[in-house]
Amino acid sequence: MGPVRAHLRIAIDGPAGSGKSTIGERLARRLGYSYVDTGAFYRALTVLALAHAVDPADGAALTRLAEGARIQVLPPTVADGRQYTVRLDGRDITGELRTPAVEANVSRVSAHPGVRQAIRGQQRALADERGVVMVGRDIGTVVLPDADLKIYLEVSVDERARRRHGDLAHQLGSQAPSYEQVRDELARRDALDAAQMRRADDAVVIHTDVMQADDVVAEILAMLGQDHERA
Ligand code: C5P
Repeated sequence: MGPVRAHLRIAIDGPAGSGKSTIGERLARRLGYSYVDTGAFYRALTVLALAHAVDPADGAALTRLAEGARIQVLPPTVADGRQYTVRLDGRDITGELRTPAVEANVSRVSAHPGVRQAIRGQQRALADERGVVMVGRDIGTVVLPDADLKIYLEVSVDERARRRHGDLAHQLGSQAPSYEQVRDELARRDALDAAQMRRADDAVVIHTDVMQADDVVAEILAMLGQDHERA
């Protein structure tokens, strides 16, 4: 850990379906910090790119969009179970972030260096304001390389697929994709995201295959020297 500050910056990285958003949100709530899901920025930009029919391969056009877009990731403004509200140029697009079209294109949109540079500036600005738990792929390596604590969640693709398939079956019933489809989609995204997915040398690796989210949160709180009794 780095020097003690009035507020800490905590980075949590890991692959799609590793539980980082559940863990990050609960940890932030326990610490009274803000929770920033950096994937939401890339998803918001993808919503914008799809609306403007910009080719996900067109890095120059996407970079211009990213530089001009005002993406805000805010505490929830509606109590409908959402973790946060995302506004794009003032419009609430939270409900559009997880559509199949966004899932299919977000990794290609976010791969362009110009896009990443524009988006990172916005993410860093949020961490300057107050204590933050920031989750993503490149937080410990690039966005907040001097974070006070870096966590890297390690979990097999089979276990991630099992969990996500369970969630989707619960939400969608017979409309849910099969386990194999969910696993293939996670593996596809892992391959596309591999370039951004580097573990920081000073990250603490937590293997979450057999751990519950609350146990991971308790372990992180213990690392911070915080009481980890459940609230
Ligand atoms: O975390 P989530 O699944 O919402 O992220 C969606 C996509 O955004 C990822 O698959 C990845 O392509 C991109 N992303 C990224 N860097 C981050 C967070 C997300 O490239 N820090």
